[in-house]
Amino acid sequence: MERFETYGVVVTGGARGIGEATARRFAAEGAGVLIADVDGESGARTAASIRAGGGRAEHAVCDVTDRVSVDAAVAQAAAAFGSLDVLVNNAYACSDHRDDFTEERDEDWARDLDVCLIGAMRCARAALPHLAKARDRRGAIVNIGSVNGLSYFGNAAYSAAKAGLVSLTRSLAQEAAPLGVRANMVAPGTIRTPVWDGREATLAAAARAYPLGRVGEPSDIAAAVAFLASTDAAWITGVTLPVEGGILGSN
Ligand code: NDP
Repeated sequence: MERFETYGVVVTGGARGIGEATARRFAAEGAGVLIADVDGESGARTAASIRAGGGRAEHAVCDVTDRVSVDAAVAQAAAAFGSLDVLVNNAYACSDHRDDFTEERDEDWARDLDVCLIGAMRCARAALPHLAKARDRRGAIVNIGSVNGLSYFGNAAYSAAKAGLVSLTRSLAQEAAPLGVRANMVAPGTIRTPVWDGREATLAAAARAYPLGRVGEPSDIAAAVAFLASTDAAWITGVTLPVEGGILGSN
């Protein structure tokens, strides 16, 4: 039996990048996956591609800053797959990267916090009643953070949102534990996704800085997410797992 055969999974921002790799990983291990992405066209394409490969996938046009669309996506997943067992909070929209916080505008802060931090809360709040009903207390939330939330890598607004997600993960873990639901976080280092398109030189320089000699691939993160969501991690909750090629320990 495949690890996630009877699971229903929601991946926010699942149309591309890390979210897409994560959705593909769950589907490859038998789950039904709802790709909940603000980009409906890409989400539909990714879901169709998973189905073409024999997997179970649907998509929903979902904006994590909008409670109504979050609630609808969660309800869609539970109805489509018979249960909602795993929520992956991955959606990402970041203001321009700035290394001088005096240049960051109020709108940058509002946007980054709304998508990366409050958006994860909205999705968790909507999903929790479903996750609490998951078979054998296997409900799990996995938040996608960043090394930016754990150390200084510039971009104060985004980093604060990701640092806030560390705390939200801990709170969720404590408050959802009595319901049999776990909450953990993966904190990636630099990962080769479309956000880096056109910045090959930056990626090459980053690769040299990473002790393991390369930047990460979306599949590196998907593997860690799948582990934390699985029953192999049944006694792990509230933790942040850095998946970052050794960069945090290197300076
Ligand atoms: P991508 O930009 O490649 O993918 C993010 C997806 O989220 C896009 O499809 C995007 O749609 C969608 N999205 C944007 N806003 C919303 C919203 N409001 N509601 C729902 N979906 C939305 O990002 P990555 O794959 O690179 O990053 C995924 C996660 O990994 C993020 O949480 C990010 O912070 C984290 N991370 C990434 C790193 C990296 O180097 N790539 C490093 C560390 C952490 P659209 O294209 O229309 O905007």
